[in-house]
Amino acid sequence: MVSKKKELELNLSKISDFENPNVKFEQYMTSAEVASTMIHMADMNGDIEGKIIVDLGAGTGMLAIGSALRGPRGVIGIEKDKSALLIAKRNVSTISQEIMVEWVLADVEHVPIKTVDKVDVTGIMNPPFGAQKGYKHADRNFLEKISEIASVSYSIHNGDSIGFIESFVEERGGVISHSYSVVMELKKSQKFHTKTRKEIEMEVHRIRWE
Ligand code: SAH
Repeated sequence: MVSKKKELELNLSKISDFENPNVKFEQYMTSAEVASTMIHMADMNGDIEGKIIVDLGAGTGMLAIGSALRGPRGVIGIEKDKSALLIAKRNVSTISQEIMVEWVLADVEHVPIKTVDKVDVTGIMNPPFGAQKGYKHADRNFLEKISEIASVSYSIHNGDSIGFIESFVEERGGVISHSYSVVMELKKSQKFHTKTRKEIEMEVHRIRWE
């Protein structure tokens, strides 16, 4: 198992990105640095050992594979784009022969997990932000779903989401126990992006769903 954060980051730096990112699905890969920080923190908080990790919108596997490297009870990566899951599967074989992730091709709206006990489940995810027109707070559905299946979740949001997250979590009787902000460098992935790289400020929240 991987125990140092740097070692985790080094492993995750080998993860391949989306080949043809889909704008509507807001496909961009979490950086190895941001992913390893988040997963290391979850591990230190006791949210990985003995838990089933659920990654909603698993993409090419960054967060699911990173969590698997910390030896939880199991990892489930749910993603609606088949081509992303094919890359995720390849990524597992590149990184380690010893880890296993259950990949599920499904829309978050219809997550086929209901039987597991909430207490045993930790969500780790980077949901779409709703940056595209007409999709504002697309992360709402992801939070909604994870609140039903997990007792704790870690999620990455737009830099100005705290107000929305706070009221959403409060409405559901949850508690934000930790928050921090990160800057992530995004590579140009769409023709309409004018710069080759752009730094985006984001927020990470640990939420207890009670
Ligand atoms: N978790 C990955 C990818 C984040 S990008 C990482 O951290 O690198 C967000 C992902 O959510 C994309 O792969 C996108 O295809 C997926 N997605 C968007 N809407 C979805 C939905 N309704 N159901 C399932 N997956 C969805």
